[in-house]
This record gives sequence, C-alpha cells and structure tokens, in this order.
Amino acid sequence: MPPLRPIDPAHGPSRADVVQLWEELEWWSCAYCDADFGGAVIPEVDHVTPLAKGGLHEWSNLAPACAECNRLKSDRDMADWLSVLAGQGDGCP
Ligand SMILES: [Zn+2]
Repeated sequence: MPPLRPIDPAHGPSRADVVQLWEELEWWSCAYCDADFGGAVIPEVDHVTPLAKGGLHEWSNLAPACAECNRLKSDRDMADWLSVLAGQGDGCP
C-alpha cells in the first residue's frame, strides 16, 4: 500500500483520490450500514467529524458512506449519529 498522501488543507484529496484508496484497501462498503458499493450504491466521502463541527479534511477523518447514510448523518457528530443508527434498526438500504 502506498503511504498516505499529504493533504493540502486548502484543497484536500479529491473524491477520486479517496475512492481509489478505498478500492485499494478493499474498503468497499458503507462504514455505517455495511452496504456494499456497486450498482446503485455509490460511495460518498463522509467527514467522520463534520467540517461544520471542526473536523478536518484529512485521511483520518474520511470514511466511505452510502448516499443514504451520508444524507442522514449530515453534520451530526459521532455520538449523535450512533444514536440515530441505533434507533433505526437495520439502517439504510
Ligand atoms: Zn450506509
């Protein structure tokens, strides 16, 4: 695996860079609901700690999420988001 590339905070990794790395790592499912990407399930780049809550656009704060999880998570912090996930049972499709 290549070393993680440094990120210019002004621009950060492109979506293509992030998706390519996840493919290389075979991290190819939603980090939150475990939906496998492919077909209609498109990987989106989620900021684990939202940018709006002070999270940084750096590798360690990025996770693959399906569109549904990304939309539901929005700007929630992890504690809030985990309570939402726990409350919705199976999670998203
Ligand atoms: Zn999901």
